[in-house]
Amino acid sequence: MPKRTRSAELAALTTIAAQVNRTQDLDEILRGALQTTLEVIGEDSGEIFLRDQETGELILHIHQGVSAAFVSAEAVVGEEECLCGLAIKSGRFLVVPDMASHPARSREACLREGFRSCIRLPLLARGEVLGLLNIQSRESRRFTADDEELLTAIGHQIGIAIANAQLIDDAEKRRATLDSVMHSLVDGLILVDKRGRIAYINPCAEEMLGLPARALIGQTVEVVDREMAGRVARPDQVIARLRAAAADLQNRPTVELVMTAPVARTLQARFFPIHDAGGGHLGLGLLLRDITREKELDEMKSQLLATVSHELRTPLASIKGFATTLLRQDVVWDENTRREFLAIIDEESDRLSELIGNLLDMSRIEAGTLRMEPEATDLGPIIHETVAKFQVMSQRHQIQVSLPPALPLVWADPRRVHQVLRNLVENAIKYSPQGGPITVSAQVQTDRVQVSVADRGIGLEAQQLERIFDRFYQVDSASTRKVGGSGLGLSICKAIVEALGGKIWAESQPGLGSTFHFTLPLAP
Ligand code: ADP
Repeated sequence: MPKRTRSAELAALTTIAAQVNRTQDLDEILRGALQTTLEVIGEDSGEIFLRDQETGELILHIHQGVSAAFVSAEAVVGEEECLCGLAIKSGRFLVVPDMASHPARSREACLREGFRSCIRLPLLARGEVLGLLNIQSRESRRFTADDEELLTAIGHQIGIAIANAQLIDDAEKRRATLDSVMHSLVDGLILVDKRGRIAYINPCAEEMLGLPARALIGQTVEVVDREMAGRVARPDQVIARLRAAAADLQNRPTVELVMTAPVARTLQARFFPIHDAGGGHLGLGLLLRDITREKELDEMKSQLLATVSHELRTPLASIKGFATTLLRQDVVWDENTRREFLAIIDEESDRLSELIGNLLDMSRIEAGTLRMEPEATDLGPIIHETVAKFQVMSQRHQIQVSLPPALPLVWADPRRVHQVLRNLVENAIKYSPQGGPITVSAQVQTDRVQVSVADRGIGLEAQQLERIFDRFYQVDSASTRKVGGSGLGLSICKAIVEALGGKIWAESQPGLGSTFHFTLPLAP
């Protein structure tokens, strides 16, 4: 073995150190380090193992000058096994001058490769063993104290490189986890640094505001305000409120944004301060939550209360009024007046019970417990009965029925079909205050029957048509308010028809009248 010079040792150490500083690619560093180490020590086979931080196993990472069979035999080495385990436990350089006399696990594999002696060098950083560098020799070599000194220094360099790579890897993993959390947030998230510039915006916030992150990151909040101005209702007010909220972070204030674009919806922005571990101010965060549905529910709840109390009070007042009148001791009512008053009480009680019935149906629909009992149903009698009943009630309308000669049976719940038809005919009467013809017709199609109720009443605008099947929706004009109603009828019809496997829709022209259609599947 030629004598190694001090300057060759120094050159090897410098080469490895330079490589550690030049690149962050751990494989490249390890490959270079192994090669340099083998060169300076005058050997040609060796391996570097990395220690799995969880299991403690040594995983073969880089090798040079060994056969494929050796690589596969040594791919994973248990923590407690043989020489490697010993080197790890002691944290010290270990020399086996003669493999043949050594009871090590890898002795057979080493002897098969022709190795006679070896070195195990733990790779350390911060007092922890992060890996192992093995060098094999084909001679029965006695490694010297100089070798040990040099290899220990090399081991430290490599240990630092591994520790750095693990730190970077950990940070990268943590960043990736955080990133995917922020990406999968169903709320929008915006982070603003302490200079008032946008530092982060997640995809949900991009979508909510209709602004791409790349247009916002690095921009000042003023720029964002300008961008927002065209997408939010009452921008001046909103921007003033956002500013005030940003100045009052400790109270985690909220601001409501009524967006007009890219999608009309209501967002709630909640501000929160961001501090570093030492409590220093880093900036602020903004969580955006879509509260459109909650707003709608709120609105619907108050609308329901208003309608229901109005609709309950009117018949109740009239029942109470006529009953009190009839009970007066000081007046004697003739038979006709008495009957007339009682008829009103009777009618108003029906109105009350219908409203309560509708409310109950609605709550069953909401709870998903509206039960249908479908059977083979003949629509003819249902249509004729309903028409006859309403014809008696309203002389001003001529209600006609137009049915094909043989109407096949449909698969439906007759009681519920009655209810739908009653609602549609009642609406046709209610919303054609000038009287006029109303036609109830049926048409047989391939696999269903379509029933239509047409009137020549006040009709509906296109945008009203879109909403009439919504709960509590009423076209709010003097003409509809006058006739009363809860806005529940059509939404219940829709729920019933759909539960029976059909469809319901309407066609209409303001001033000319409306036609409501629904379909029901043929009985099998
Ligand atoms: P309401 O109890 O108000 O009648 P509905 O759900 O039955 O509730 O109807 C919802 C709204 O649809 C009504 O308020 C009315 O404005 C409109 N509408 C229903 N039927 C007709 C029709 N035949 N012609 C015109 N408008 C109608």
